[in-house]
Amino acid sequence: MRVVIAEDGLIVREGIAGMLRHFGHEVAAAVGDAPALLAAVAAHRPDVVVTDVRMPPGYSDEGLQAAIALRAADPDLPVLVLSQYVEQTYAAELLDSGRSAGVGYLLKDRIGDVAEFVDASTIDREGPVAELGPDVLSESFDAAEALARLQARGDMEIADALLDQRALAGIGNVFKSEVLFAARVNPFTKVGTLDEATLARIVTIAQRQMRANAGEADTMAAAGGRRTTNRLDPSARLWVYGRRGLPCRRCGAAIQRAKQGPDTRSTYWCERCQPRT
Ligand SMILES: [Zn+2]
Repeated sequence: MRVVIAEDGLIVREGIAGMLRHFGHEVAAAVGDAPALLAAVAAHRPDVVVTDVRMPPGYSDEGLQAAIALRAADPDLPVLVLSQYVEQTYAAELLDSGRSAGVGYLLKDRIGDVAEFVDASTIDREGPVAELGPDVLSESFDAAEALARLQARGDMEIADALLDQRALAGIGNVFKSEVLFAARVNPFTKVGTLDEATLARIVTIAQRQMRANAGEADTMAAAGGRRTTNRLDPSARLWVYGRRGLPCRRCGAAIQRAKQGPDTRSTYWCERCQPRT
């Protein structure tokens, strides 16, 4: 597949290009803003476009607007949109563009899953955005609906359920672990064994943590700047994510890590603060 990439972050852009080449795709162009994206697509006629939502100069939705324009011109052009967070208004707008098949939407938090990313970049599947659950960053976030969608996933482990974008939209792999630490819930607990008050607390914490990190999303995340601990020390931003073997910031026990779920995502937790029940 011939791919054109638009992403303003140099490291992310090169990372995506490298992964695509590794899987045998041809990167026809890798650009850093929306006007360059439009020009590159006109020049290279790619099979797939991968674009960030926010790009220079305005960092609002330039990439998305470019994607919509490209699909207006060529309704069959597959487009994969990358975003720091699921943004339902964007997703809906993109789905309405061209034909709904051929649009994918990928959280940047999940780009590390090379196989999944390449699968999404071929965009054989329908965009997963149609069935998104309530967006934790939305002004109209419906906590009761989110709670009901979690409760409908009683057989899933809670950490996996938090990644299921059809339950709650917007939570990626980092916040999955951070939210459950803050809620003191073991990530391997089956949703069906958690009482409603605990699930409601998890939803509230998820919303709070995600919102606290939303404003500065692109620049902060690029610098590894997500924070959940409210500590100013840049080395102490997160409670558990990425801290395997290091002492828990609450109790001092060693932080654990395990692969979890069908996508074998890394989960971090403190066995003492979040005991298995
Ligand atoms: Zn602990």
